[in-house]
Amino acid sequence: MLATVNENSNDYEEPDLFGPAGHRMNPPERDMSLQVPNYTKKRPSSLCSDDGVLDDYEYEGSLHSQQGSFYLPNTGVLASTMKEDTSQLSAVIKMGWLDKNPPQGAIYYQRRWVKLDADYLRYFDTDKDVYSKGIISTAFITNVTTVGELKFEVVTNNRTFIFRAESEAERNEWVTVLQDCTSGRQRHTVMNPGSPLAPDYQGYLELKGLRSKLYTVVASDKVFLYKNIDDYRIGLGITSIEMNVGNIKDSDRRSFDLTTPYRIFSFIAESEQMREQWVNAMRDAIGEALSNSEVAERIWAESSNSLCADCEAPKPEWAAINLCVVVCKQCAGEHRGLGPSISKVRSLKMDKKVWTEELIQLFLVIGNERANSFWAANVPPSEALSPSSCSEERRRFISNKYRQGKYRRYHALYGNQRELNHALCINVQCSDVLETLSLIFCGADVNCSTGLESQLSPLSLATAHSQPLQAELLNHNLNTELPRLEEVDAMDPEPYPLPPSVSHNGFLFKTASMARPVTERKAKEEFSRRWCTLNDGVFSYYESDKNSNPNGALKASEIVCLASDNEDRHGYNNTFEIYTESERLYLFGTDDSEVKSQWVKSIAKAFIPVSAEPLLRLNFERIGKLMCKDGLNLQRSKVGWFALEGSVLHVYLEGSQVEEIHLRKLNELSIQQDNEVMVLVGKGRTLYIEGKRKLDFSCWCAAIQAAAGSGGDRLHEQQLTETDIPVIVDSCINYITQCGMVSEGIYRKSGVNSRVAALCERFRHDARSLCLREGEHQVDDVSNTLKRFFRELKEGVFTTQDSPSWLSTATIQDESTKISQYKKFLNKLPHVNKATLQTLIKHLYCVQHFSDENQMNNHNLAIVFGPTLFQTDGKDYAAGRAIEDLIEHYKLIFEVDEQQLNKQIEVIEVIHKMRNLKNLQPPSERGGDFICTVYLEEKASGERHVKIPGSMTALELTLEILDQRNIPIKDKDYWSCWEICCKEEMERPLHYQERVLPIVHSIGTESHLLIKKHAAMEAITLYLSSKPDASKHGMIKFREERSILGLGLTSFHERYFILNYNSLRMYKDVRSNRPEREWPVKNLKVYLGIKKKLRPPTCWGLTVLYESMKQEKPERQQWYLCCETQSEMREWYATFLSIQYDGNVWPQDGLQHKRVSRELPDTRHGNVSLIPLRGSENEMRNSVAAFSQDQLAVGSSASSDVP
Ligand SMILES: [Zn+2]
Repeated sequence: MLATVNENSNDYEEPDLFGPAGHRMNPPERDMSLQVPNYTKKRPSSLCSDDGVLDDYEYEGSLHSQQGSFYLPNTGVLASTMKEDTSQLSAVIKMGWLDKNPPQGAIYYQRRWVKLDADYLRYFDTDKDVYSKGIISTAFITNVTTVGELKFEVVTNNRTFIFRAESEAERNEWVTVLQDCTSGRQRHTVMNPGSPLAPDYQGYLELKGLRSKLYTVVASDKVFLYKNIDDYRIGLGITSIEMNVGNIKDSDRRSFDLTTPYRIFSFIAESEQMREQWVNAMRDAIGEALSNSEVAERIWAESSNSLCADCEAPKPEWAAINLCVVVCKQCAGEHRGLGPSISKVRSLKMDKKVWTEELIQLFLVIGNERANSFWAANVPPSEALSPSSCSEERRRFISNKYRQGKYRRYHALYGNQRELNHALCINVQCSDVLETLSLIFCGADVNCSTGLESQLSPLSLATAHSQPLQAELLNHNLNTELPRLEEVDAMDPEPYPLPPSVSHNGFLFKTASMARPVTERKAKEEFSRRWCTLNDGVFSYYESDKNSNPNGALKASEIVCLASDNEDRHGYNNTFEIYTESERLYLFGTDDSEVKSQWVKSIAKAFIPVSAEPLLRLNFERIGKLMCKDGLNLQRSKVGWFALEGSVLHVYLEGSQVEEIHLRKLNELSIQQDNEVMVLVGKGRTLYIEGKRKLDFSCWCAAIQAAAGSGGDRLHEQQLTETDIPVIVDSCINYITQCGMVSEGIYRKSGVNSRVAALCERFRHDARSLCLREGEHQVDDVSNTLKRFFRELKEGVFTTQDSPSWLSTATIQDESTKISQYKKFLNKLPHVNKATLQTLIKHLYCVQHFSDENQMNNHNLAIVFGPTLFQTDGKDYAAGRAIEDLIEHYKLIFEVDEQQLNKQIEVIEVIHKMRNLKNLQPPSERGGDFICTVYLEEKASGERHVKIPGSMTALELTLEILDQRNIPIKDKDYWSCWEICCKEEMERPLHYQERVLPIVHSIGTESHLLIKKHAAMEAITLYLSSKPDASKHGMIKFREERSILGLGLTSFHERYFILNYNSLRMYKDVRSNRPEREWPVKNLKVYLGIKKKLRPPTCWGLTVLYESMKQEKPERQQWYLCCETQSEMREWYATFLSIQYDGNVWPQDGLQHKRVSRELPDTRHGNVSLIPLRGSENEMRNSVAAFSQDQLAVGSSASSDVP
């Protein structure tokens, strides 16, 4: 094949091989390049130095003599293909006029039109030429450097090209893009050393009119012409011919024509046989080129794909394969501008290799319309594109749409990383690729761990479940950068308008960032001085103010929390903490409190959205965002912006006003579900704050708990009720009212000192969490706790300042003067003191009302309470006299409505009577907000709506329902509250002490609560009482849930189980030494029954749910145990129960003794809004609308009516 190379090679420039172009069009270029075999062979130096390709004069002759044959009339199939074909859509990185150095021997530069794409640097005679004079494969460019004035060198292994630009800027730009391009190329080449695309056919061919033969390479859908094989090997060619516009015609024995709209190339092969091979190879290349339009035709078969997803221009020929949209040429250009980490742009026509059958199917299944139902769910009409939009508009729109995800439809789990990942793992096992698209671009981590050993990633999971389209979609998004709202204009309202740009700078001292809360004191030495700037939504810190590259930078959009520490917490007096989305904590300090406060204000301003701006005006200690749910919408978490100031938590939820939550007045504050959720039950509402991120959540919890606790020993620093009475006072008084009104010597008798001290301590620690219960607590302990509280109160209820005035008032003889004087001082008291005093005196008034029974008349009470409240030693009666006055003239001094007071006393009399009659326990719960639907005995019996306070236990709910229905409890009636699931195929009796509210929140719509008798309880208690300790072992048939929850035993297999202490262990058989699995029993929920569709081998099955939130990755497994007999199953069940509740499976003295009197003024009806918790959001809304005017005031007013 080696032909003679033209030796007359001292020409000064490559010849104009093809003459002036007849058309203005350039050949379409491809992303996919011809990859030249990756080896180089040293060329004889005599040929290296020469820029010439062909013999000039010979060429000149051929041009003129054969000119006619170079053109093809611009008609027919090819021509029409060309019209649609486009030139500018290729991945041209840069093009422009440059002067190219003269070849050896010549002295003047050649003006050349130069074009660079990822694969080739090409130069043309004019900007209208289709076929180049020369192409340099970027893979072979080893260096690009500036040389001399306006010049730069492009160096390959064998040759150096010198170009001269018209300006310095132009030159530098060429150098930059070439460097970028070639360094990327080389990396690419190194990464794929073994995969050069092999040419389909190659060899020397004679081109008519030229004396020398050209080394011709047919590769994929292109034909490349090289001067000789050596040039081919070093990546320096003459031109390439796109075969999609080509046609082959045999002419005579050895010759054939390759015609294009611009040229006819008349080739002469070495033999007839060779011609046959060349013709076949080139026809294959045409076939390949044309088959590429098949892809487009197929993609357009989905009708919405025939319009650009962004601007609706017809017949879009490009696609962003990771975003699943088909776009037009112009939009594709803007997509390319986003970079491949955001949009992977491919041609439908030219990037044939990428269009696997799966990718085509993916585009047919999703299609532009469905893709836009996600990407363009919220496009303001004013921002929408049209085919005639200008490039500026396109750029902005496309950046908004894909870089920022501004118009996308937010997934319900948005912001909830764990659930998003989980949902992704589940979803890739089914065929819903649109959902996967939505999950990925709302933040699900494509590379998250599935928790499975065999299929570690969602991609492998999709493959394992035979979901090739899911796999294709995941595969194209493994490294995708997710949409981020980072460059939002101040004008853009969605979804959180970012604040206007804040600028601030100065020196701060910084410690290394941390992944855990700062608990220890950081000494000054641990801080380093940094120059810090806040600009354009980025907080950066630098080694010094002289450095231009920051040591680190935090985008404001990444900041989730900002906390201002108390003074003197660290070596620097004034410190603040920044928490980021990625769970890092940055601590900064300064000596100057003013500097700190400026920074805190500026940073807060930079990340708090405009809508939550009122929070910025606060003197907050902590500010940031958290996910939360509230009572009306438990299905969906939303973003809440929070600021903590003193004991008030200010909350801004989407679309509402900033609210204040007085933490010391909460009814309940608890952290549930393994530290995942913080529950705040306050006046009329419950807020669930979710710990999606651990770091800032744990710090928020600590701060909120501290703020909600008592703040000191003064009255107003206590945890307060809604009426501003310390919770401890309220609790004790309520308890005495219910249980101690007729107790002889109440308040005079002393309790057991150690118990009183313990009670005081518990109240001091968290009064809210302590619920006084009859049986558990003694009347005299409680009464003494109350007295001790007042005695130890700092400044006393009458205040240090005014106590003497109160005492001297007691000495006034004239009754009416005295009373008006008391009234005067009463009104001088701070609000909390006044409210507390009034409550206490009212209580004492009631106590003395029952003095016939309790022996505590006014005087006796005054002897006790005088010194207590005035904190005197009690040696004189001044204090007692004052208290006696207050009780005696209670109605006058406190201006009490007599009727109301009498009613109150009547109520107490009723309580007293009831207690005498039934010896029952009073209701003693506060708070609670949820109305839940509960059924009695069977679902068909009709539902009951019950208010479920946060602290309500299953037993209390059971009794409440039985009371509502007036159902008497007989001996050995084991009434229980059951969670009924899965169309009643599974059920679980709640333990009597189990709190109902978390269950209500966790059960799905398929489940409900039912009150019915527990038929097996007697057998269970008998069985347990017969055993020395709770343990059991034996064979059980075991099966796991298929799917992500565990790929293991998916049918029932015998296993040996040991259940004791706190763990359940599973062994392959009796003789095995090591358990196959082990679970902590406390994390198991055991249901009676197994879904029938799992075909359990016997009907004595248990369904076990294992949930653990504690680890980094929460676990949730479900599996099944099947026993041979019913008694076998009961024994296992009883053992589980006994271990979980330390042997306390049923109330010791049965239900009757626990029964609560419900004949008190009823709080369950009246103005309580009934909101069934289960059911759809709509049902809830309707229900709210029907029952309540104040949507948040669920049951709030009712609870305060409790006497
Ligand atoms: Zn478009």
